[in-house]
This record gives sequence, structure tokens and C-alpha cells, in this order.
Amino acid sequence: MEQRTALVTGGSRGIGRAVALRLADDGYDVAFCYRSGGEAAAETADAIKQRGVRCFHAPCDVADPEAVTEFVAAAEADLGPVEVLVNSAGIVRDKPLVLMPFADWAAVVDTNLTGTYNFCRSVVFGFMKRKRGTVINMSSVAGVYGNATQANYSASKGGINAMSRSLAKELGPYGIRVNVVAPGFIETDMTAALPEKARAKAVGMVPLRRLGQPTDVAELVSFLASDRAAYITGQVLQVDGGIVL
Ligand code: NDP
Repeated sequence: MEQRTALVTGGSRGIGRAVALRLADDGYDVAFCYRSGGEAAAETADAIKQRGVRCFHAPCDVADPEAVTEFVAAAEADLGPVEVLVNSAGIVRDKPLVLMPFADWAAVVDTNLTGTYNFCRSVVFGFMKRKRGTVINMSSVAGVYGNATQANYSASKGGINAMSRSLAKELGPYGIRVNVVAPGFIETDMTAALPEKARAKAVGMVPLRRLGQPTDVAELVSFLASDRAAYITGQVLQVDGGIVL
């Protein structure tokens, strides 16, 4: 295939890392950002380069619009125009609402929702000019169904779903597709703190009787990024082993 560039936010660890590696396997040069995890980022960058493609990576707080603009400009200067944008950076700060300080509300919404806006805003004008490009935003089943103790997180992810549907309508006439991947319970650092008992309970709720792996999510992202998904836009697709059935 002709050389193409994908950009993955939160690509150093977890789902973002699996997505970055899967897109590298698909032949994309890959740019990714992270917040602070330099060691994990260096390992991921090595793994991407081992796949025979180029890699650009740097720390960039997705919640900081100026940093995002700079990151996108540097990534495109190095690898060429971005064609696939995957917004995967995300955090949780779980608490019952009455105990949730404003800082925890704001950090989650700023990172998950505003961070997704910041990257879409920085990348999409190039997509419109080239009449080419696709956006895949990482949401969560919590953004569709809600989760107790996750009012901030669920709101941020529900916002991503609504924003993505709006963008699908706005950008469709330019040939740009926008979709959402909503994972269920995936084994990453984000979910590693869960006590064994709660984990066993979660597995019991999944019809497929296992927790998801980051690669389960990356497979769908790879499909949505490709021309195999040429007529799919504005969708929120769950990768959850059936947990919410
Ligand atoms: P991890 O905690 O494993 O990884 C998070 C990644 O996001 C890291 O690369 C981290 O960088 C980066 N990141 C966090 N905050 C920022 C920021 N402000 N700016 C830039 N990068 C940032 O998370 P997961 O892989 O589990 O989650 C990935 C996405 O999938 C998230 O959006 C999450 O909400 C979603 N999701 C996850 C589920 C799960 O069960 N794991 C379920 C449903 C959705 P650094 O290493 O520097 O901190």
C-alpha cells in the first residue's frame, strides 16, 4: 500500500498500544502521544519500528489545546499527513457523585472528552482539504449505559458518542468517516486495580466468560480504519463479550 500515517493518542500503554501495533502491522507509519510514561512509550516505539514502519512519539497532554496543535504539526512534519486518527487516551477517577470533588469531574471530562475534541479539531481540517481520512474515538459501554461511581467517566464517554455522531454528519460529505469503539471490561492498567473477587464477578457477567484483551479492541479499530469499512460511519460499536446483554 502507499505510505499512510495513523495517529493514536494514549498509544504508550493498554488499548492505545495494541491499536498502534495493529495499525503498524497494517502498514501505517504511526504517531502516538502519551502523558508521562516515557519508558512504556520507548518500548512501544521499538515494537512499532520492528514492524518495518516509521514511528513518531512524544509526550502531549491531550487536554492542552496548544500542546495538541504542536504535536500534530510535529507528527505530520515527520511522517506526512495523518489519515487515521484514533483518540484512545483516557483516565478514570471513580467515586460516588456526593464524594466526587470538582477536580475529579474536570480531569476526566477534560482528558476524555475535551482531549478528543482537541485532536479532532487539529486533524480534521487537513482531512477536509484532502477529502480523505477517518476518525475512531474510544468510548466505553459506560458511555452508553452508565455506571455507578462513574458519573464523570460515563458523561465524558457519552459526550464522545454524541460528538462523533455529529461529526459523522458534518464530515460525511467530505468523504470522512467517524466511528466510536466502546469497549467493555478490557485487561489493562486501568482495570488492574480491581480486586480478585470483583474481577471474578465481572467475568461471570460476560457471556463469553472472559475479560477482553487490548487486541480484541485493536482488531475492530483496524477494520474501521480500513476501506473494508467504507460505508460505516456514525456508529458506536461495542467490543464487550456481550457484558451488557
Ligand atoms: P491505560 O490506563 O492502560 O492507558 C491510558 C493511556 O492514555 C496511556 O498511554 C496514558 O499515557 C494515556 N493518557 C492518559 N491521560 C493522558 C493525557 N492527559 N494526555 C495524553 N495521554 C494520556 O488505559 P486503557 O488502555 O485501559 O484505556 C484506553 C481507552 O479505552 C481509554 O479511553 C478508556 O477510557 C477506554 N476504555 C477502557 C476500558 C478498559 O476496560 N480498560 C473499557 C472501556 C473503555 P501515560 O502512560 O503517560 O499515562
